[in-house]
Amino acid sequence: MNEVPERKLKCMKCNEYLVPAKTLLRYLGHQMTYEFPRCPVCGQVFVPEEIARGKMREVEITLEDK
Ligand SMILES: [Zn+2]
Repeated sequence: MNEVPERKLKCMKCNEYLVPAKTLLRYLGHQMTYEFPRCPVCGQVFVPEEIARGKMREVEITLEDK
């Protein structure tokens, strides 16, 4: 249930295909790494709806690939 389905998404701003990027979530003291689709141009991370809707207020998202 924790898998994020891969979809061919495009950044609406840059019109570029998104690439999966490891993203560190911090949630109530826990750390979880997910791969979220990210725009290679502007760096915008597209968070799955179920996370954005339910947990975003408490979740810090940090890119981990540097
Ligand atoms: Zn973009």
